[in-house]
Amino acid sequence: MDFSYSEEELEVLDLVRQVADEQLAPNLAAIDESGEFSRGNFKLLGELGILGALFPEEYGGTDLGFLTYAMCVEEVSRGDFNTGLTMSVHSMSASTILKFGTKSQKEKYLPGAIAGTNLLAFALSEPDYGSDSASIKCHAKKVSGGYLLNGEKAWITNALDADQFVLWATIDPQLGKTGITSFIIEKGTKGLGIGPNEHKMGGGGTTTSSLILTDCFLPNENRLGEEGKGLRTALNSLSGGRIGIAANATGVSQRAINEAAAYSKKRIQFDVPICEFQGIQWKLADMDTKCEAGRLLYRKAAYMKQFAGNDINKDPIKEASQAKCYATDVGLEICSEAVQIFGGYGYSREYPVERLMRYIKVTQIFEGSNEIQRNLIARELLKS
Ligand SMILES: Cc1cc2nc3c(=O)[nH]c(=O)nc-3n(C[C@H](O)[C@H](O)[C@H](O)COP(=O)(O)OP(=O)(O)OC[C@H]3O[C@@H](n4cnc5c(N)ncnc54)[C@H](O)[C@@H]3O)c2cc1C
Repeated sequence: MDFSYSEEELEVLDLVRQVADEQLAPNLAAIDESGEFSRGNFKLLGELGILGALFPEEYGGTDLGFLTYAMCVEEVSRGDFNTGLTMSVHSMSASTILKFGTKSQKEKYLPGAIAGTNLLAFALSEPDYGSDSASIKCHAKKVSGGYLLNGEKAWITNALDADQFVLWATIDPQLGKTGITSFIIEKGTKGLGIGPNEHKMGGGGTTTSSLILTDCFLPNENRLGEEGKGLRTALNSLSGGRIGIAANATGVSQRAINEAAAYSKKRIQFDVPICEFQGIQWKLADMDTKCEAGRLLYRKAAYMKQFAGNDINKDPIKEASQAKCYATDVGLEICSEAVQIFGGYGYSREYPVERLMRYIKVTQIFEGSNEIQRNLIARELLKS
């Protein structure tokens, strides 16, 4: 693996770091408390070209590749985990169109997705099928000229704010995995209802809602990829998404370490700053080592994803799962230790670290829970 970066990549990363520090981080508390999605932050990423990293220049992208993209997600997430999550889910959805869409679908949806004027969401989970996504029941019945969709999708990130959804349904529930097909569905399509915002433990700056499809007609041109090949599409997109979540969790972990280290230099107990106690130093040392290990895992997976390109047989499934599972598990430990270093103040909403701890919990759950990641790692390991 070659982790050396070109001048252009270094410039982009510097820009993202500056944006994270100066424009995202100062507003995080207000955004999280408001519970509202920040369209402004999303548009800012588009205006600065940060949303284009995974996309070719013909659609307005910068084609910087998966490794630089994932590093940008880390930096954005260090500033604001909500915007980092949005960037990751949106890019995963738009990449699904890039990889599996027709030319006219790419021309229609990608320029806006890259410019930050179109927000995309990823709709796979259902109320009764989360981990078992191969059993989804949302029905896309074939009718003249297209499909009639009926069913429900659950837990969709940014559903209330999204302009388009990449959505999975089955053309026949009896077909099992071989019936699953993906579609692009626009906000405002007749028969598409959006449920209320879920009241969540953390991540108030993204909305999370259900989609209710009632006799919702989609013409053939809204089908994404081949009929019955949707599970492959979803799994390929999710491996990229998991690398994004690992980077998202690493950014949050790094923020927790920075906050805790700075606090430990200021907080005086027994007449000395608490950073002089070996008990605090060892906590910081372990937090930093774990964060760095998660960072290296996601960068390795991103590097492999970049070289897999469009060859889905080379998809780094095991490495993406290892990165997601490890970076998010240590992320919760790191954020919990950051709260501990702040003592009672860490438990207060006046200080930043409880927010990071509330948020990071969900990274162990979504885009495939960490139990499912361990199943995938073991499956790939035993195969070889
Ligand atoms: C805030 C938030 C945002 C989300 N955003 C999206 C989104 O944008 N799009 C989308 O499609 N989905 C989204 N999800 C859904 C998320 O992907 C699912 O919650 C997740 O896949 C787990 O599914 P579940 O909640 O149905 O849990 P279940 O599948 O019911 O699992 C319950 C428990 O059983 C464990 N378990 C299940 N099967 C196994 C097994 N075989 N071996 C061992 N343990 C197992 C799980 O790990 C978990 O601990 C989001 C969820 C949340 C909370």
